[in-house]
Amino acid sequence: MNASSGDPMRPILSLKFLSLLLAILLTTSSFAQTNQPQKPRRLSSSPASAAVPSPRDVIGFTPGDDRKLASWAQIVDYFKRLERASNRVKFQELGKTTLGRPFVLAIISSPANLANLERFKEIQRKLADPRTFNSNDAEAEKLIAEGKTIVMITCGIHSTEVGGNLVSMNIAHRLASDDSPETREILERCIVLLVPSLNPDGNDIVKNWYDKTLGTPAEGTNPPELYHHYTGHDNNRDWYAFTQVETQLTVDKVHNVWHPQIVHDIHQQGETGSRFFLPPYVEPWEPNVPPIIQAGVNFMGSTMAWELAGEGKAGVVINGVYDAWTPARAYQHYHGGIRILSETASARIASPTTVPFDKLTPQVNVDPKVRSWNFPLVWPGGEWKLANIVDYMQAGAFALMRNAARYRERWLRDFYLVGKDAVRERRDGEAFAFLLLKPEGAGIAVWEREGISRLESILERGQVNIVYAHSRFKADGVEYPLDTRIVLMAQPYGAFARALLQRQQYPDLREYPGGPPRRPYDVTAHTLPLLMGVRVVKVIEPFSLPVSDARPDNPIHWSSSTQAPRIGLYKSNAASMDEGWTRWMFEQFKIKYSSANDSQIRAGKLREQFDYIIIPAQNSQQILNGLSKDRYPAEISGGLGQAGVDALKKFVEDGGTIITLNEASQFAIDHLGVPVRNVLEGVPAKDFYCPGSILKIKVDTNSPITRGAPKLESSKDESIAWVEGSLAFEPTSDDARVIARFADAKELLLSGWLLGGGKMAGKGAIVEVKRSKGRVIMFAFRPQYRGQSIATLPFLFNAISTSTTQR
Ligand SMILES: [Zn+2]
Repeated sequence: MNASSGDPMRPILSLKFLSLLLAILLTTSSFAQTNQPQKPRRLSSSPASAAVPSPRDVIGFTPGDDRKLASWAQIVDYFKRLERASNRVKFQELGKTTLGRPFVLAIISSPANLANLERFKEIQRKLADPRTFNSNDAEAEKLIAEGKTIVMITCGIHSTEVGGNLVSMNIAHRLASDDSPETREILERCIVLLVPSLNPDGNDIVKNWYDKTLGTPAEGTNPPELYHHYTGHDNNRDWYAFTQVETQLTVDKVHNVWHPQIVHDIHQQGETGSRFFLPPYVEPWEPNVPPIIQAGVNFMGSTMAWELAGEGKAGVVINGVYDAWTPARAYQHYHGGIRILSETASARIASPTTVPFDKLTPQVNVDPKVRSWNFPLVWPGGEWKLANIVDYMQAGAFALMRNAARYRERWLRDFYLVGKDAVRERRDGEAFAFLLLKPEGAGIAVWEREGISRLESILERGQVNIVYAHSRFKADGVEYPLDTRIVLMAQPYGAFARALLQRQQYPDLREYPGGPPRRPYDVTAHTLPLLMGVRVVKVIEPFSLPVSDARPDNPIHWSSSTQAPRIGLYKSNAASMDEGWTRWMFEQFKIKYSSANDSQIRAGKLREQFDYIIIPAQNSQQILNGLSKDRYPAEISGGLGQAGVDALKKFVEDGGTIITLNEASQFAIDHLGVPVRNVLEGVPAKDFYCPGSILKIKVDTNSPITRGAPKLESSKDESIAWVEGSLAFEPTSDDARVIARFADAKELLLSGWLLGGGKMAGKGAIVEVKRSKGRVIMFAFRPQYRGQSIATLPFLFNAISTSTTQR
């Protein structure tokens, strides 16, 4: 009773009849869309489906079978076997993952197209940058007539959403073996770039945990570690910062080589909402996304949902839940293509679940119990299993590819139009360029250089061209020095640069008029110059460019000159993404540390092992109680507990320093007896709300903790803080010293969204507490946010290399 239907496209007609039908369709109907009529070209008739191995033939079960997951080696093996058996499939290993597994791509198209891939890449390159042919429309039409829709399908970035990795094999098998007209049309008119998993390491982390716990109370739970070694679920928030090797491989070797018009990213959502989400996204959209991309997303998602309705698939919602604000999830929106997210309801990893109708819960813009314009077919509740998940995912992917094939010409022309608009001369009032100002001053500029170097490499990886002034020049009436970095807006990916360089003004969205704030799907700010401590100026008036293409100097990279202190990084079994990001940052900057888990902390004698213990951002209750004792094995459940709290207190008494980040500072308040109050504790969202924004802080420049940190703009004592689930401190005794304060309410918000800033204005953002021989240094915010907040990293690094601030 759960709306699972058979494959509606299974070929049941004779091949001869299908060929005839194909010929008729291609010559008479709207399928023939190009200006030059396409001749119906016969595909090679060789790939008999018998010769093409099914996933079951290779991995021993059918993707979607209950309680069965494939290892990454099995999935890679399947794609290699498919390549050997089918002339429609090319397999490539693009590189190695964080933990050393192969990161792979399957290119799937007609044999004729596969024989001609370099030509199709060239067409994409030209259409992506119409400067290459002076934006000549007649020339563009020739390229459009010849080109193919480039469809990139990415699976399995979130590894507990296990359907994605599995369905990749089904999608590939059907494309490689099916001879129906619709599949032939897809193969003729599209080049499909299938990434079977954006996180192969996580595939095995989840499979190993799942297999190990089958038949125990832990069956179907999340593994007790991050499923991406450094970033966990945040691996899908990396599509502009490009910090992780998997993101880099995907961007460098797929996106930037192929410039796909369509990217389909296959995900899963929770168990109890709608069964399947497709765009249109809900508001807000990030304003730098070109209008034609926005319209294309709406069109594609709606037609996919329409096709799924025709197949009788219930519970499909459009225009619900997911917004299109952050570029962190949408590289393609700024690179000429659309991103189609799909989110299928989950089971319990690979174990079936049952969701009674009355347990279905509302999401943004949809109540799954109620039919509405964007939710036309209600799912009646009942059992939901992996087979349903794989079925919906596959149906979605084929609906997308059918559209990509039928509207091939339109997708290519839109792609060209986006590029053409991006490279034209700027109009009155439009930004002409952004200038990245060179750091000034020698000794204190190390972090500024680090920031500008990282910002430049991000823009360059996003294919933004940066030029360097080889003499002084004037822009908007102001003189700028030699070596100023200039980012012109008239270039193919100028909008990507603009989105990252300007400040965000997130709209004040409410659940209902006058009601509480409506939660954004991710965070609300992504202004890299603020995060990275780089001064940037927007220039409106065109100026003549005194430029050279050569980079003027080699940026200096930071390296620790301090004596290596012994650092313990707390690693809860209830995995914290902030812990992973902290590890990543330390490794980037070659700072030695060792991880300390719950049982190590509980065992005490911490001062013998560590000088500093860092507790990354994590909910106070979760730090204390850890994983549920009812479901997880005894050796990993239970958190720090009272024994851990006592051991940490003893560590401070013995002269150790504890550093707590963001929510973990609430743990220090709750359990370590620090004389500090969190003024935001218990304040409802309608009175204070800050879901991932950049705020201004004022720092005590006499404290060693603030030494060398980049200052905001040209101020003497201002910096930024990444505020998301954050605190605001009020000391309750003289033992607590405020090292940084949030700015006044009227100047507090720099980028993003903030409600009720008056509640935190002037309150502590960093506090240092002296306790007997030791210290607790508490951050109200995340100083190492997702590897991006270079501006505040010095506070954290100073905290692990300085002695007490003197009064
Ligand atoms: Zn996901």
